[in-house]
Amino acid sequence: MDLVYGTPYWPSTYKTHIDYPSLNDDISCDCLIIGGGMGGALTSRLLAQRGLDTVVIDKRKIAHGSSSANTGLLQYTNDKSLTSCINTFGEAKGVRFYQLCRDAMKQLTEIAGSLKTDPWFIPRNSFCFASSEEDVAMLEEEYQTLQKYGFDAELWNTDQIKHYFPFEKPAALYTKGDAEVNPFRFVQSLFESAAQHGALIYEQTEMIHCDYDDEGVWCHTSHGKIRAKQVVYAAGYETQEIKKDKGAYLKATYAITTKPLPDLSRWHEQAMIWETARPYLYMRTTPDNRIIVGGLDEEIPAQDQRELRARNQGDVLLEEVQSYFPSDALEVDYAWGAVFGNTHDGLPLIGTHPDYPHSYFVEGYGGNGTVYSMIAASLIADAIIGTPNEDMKLFSLTRTSKPSPM
Ligand SMILES: Cc1cc2nc3c(=O)[nH]c(=O)nc-3n(C[C@H](O)[C@H](O)[C@H](O)COP(=O)(O)OP(=O)(O)OC[C@H]3O[C@@H](n4cnc5c(N)ncnc54)[C@H](O)[C@@H]3O)c2cc1C
Repeated sequence: MDLVYGTPYWPSTYKTHIDYPSLNDDISCDCLIIGGGMGGALTSRLLAQRGLDTVVIDKRKIAHGSSSANTGLLQYTNDKSLTSCINTFGEAKGVRFYQLCRDAMKQLTEIAGSLKTDPWFIPRNSFCFASSEEDVAMLEEEYQTLQKYGFDAELWNTDQIKHYFPFEKPAALYTKGDAEVNPFRFVQSLFESAAQHGALIYEQTEMIHCDYDDEGVWCHTSHGKIRAKQVVYAAGYETQEIKKDKGAYLKATYAITTKPLPDLSRWHEQAMIWETARPYLYMRTTPDNRIIVGGLDEEIPAQDQRELRARNQGDVLLEEVQSYFPSDALEVDYAWGAVFGNTHDGLPLIGTHPDYPHSYFVEGYGGNGTVYSMIAASLIADAIIGTPNEDMKLFSLTRTSKPSPM
């Protein structure tokens, strides 16, 4: 799958000094992780830390899948509001989902602070504005719901927004406890840490297929077999090509990074900005004073049009951000397009599947993929160690079997 096209920004920010080998032998382990992105990084580090004999394989170089396209907003609030989660799943499940996201933010904060390579993790607040007058009532209701269940949020009116930002909007939610990160550096540093805890990492090693028996799994790669007691599929959107029962749909999305700006003081607390419209536009800043803007989700273009589409959509994103910050002369430095996956009901897919014995799946689909990967890593590590957790049921892979529209 062509996961990323055009020129993503993050790989330019970190030149790794580590080259992981390819697998050229037959080996065995307690736990095999297929996928060296955010999901595989968080899970393998946790498993290795807990003393499991862990092996990771990736068919590309580590962190060169969707995690290199990820714009690095880490938020406990979701594309699906808490109000909407309660309406869809009921009060207990909806609130529990938001609590798990908030707990995952705390875990990510702790982990980021413990890593040797700086992942550019900075605590930030989130600013979600009403895209139109019609959405104000929805934001007001969400504010009441967040307050009721103990989530820290403020509701801002037009005057407050005008005071803090150079644009006008009818209302906004200001939430606390979020963060920005450089996902490429984060994944690289998580794997460095996993390797220090004993995990073996193999790049450019593709899982061709897996066979299952009573004792475990045989994973066949082009130059060696891996015998594992358990396997964790953390293959990102390409899991859709591996697993029969998809439960998700794939689209294209776009992002740009501007050239550095001399001054970002008109951007209140460098909060992460997004909106109520769907698909939404979102914006954040970087530690080297750039702006990252993303959005414009659409059907995946034909292969021969993708590079051009990434550049053209990049120009549209620049016009958009320029309209919010008119006094800054903005220029595109990096523009990329990428595949992006969502589930039908807005919750990620995490856990086991009846057709795949000794296997767990990390499918952190949706705008909060990193937070979902953190939830998945904790739940799966607990299950493998033998401490099953009731929360896993919330993300069951068999809760929906609607065919993908793609
Ligand atoms: C443009 C964009 C912006 C985003 N912004 C955000 C954001 O702001 N915040 C956020 O939380 N999330 C965001 N996301 C989502 C986020 O990128 C993902 O949730 C997360 O990075 C995906 O991590 P992953 O490990 O699941 O997938 P990947 O990073 O794709 O890793 C999976 C790995 O599996 C490997 N693999 C696949 N098949 C095989 C095989 N057969 N054998 C061996 N290896 C295999 C691939 O090579 C790949 O490296 C964004 C996504 C996109 C595209």
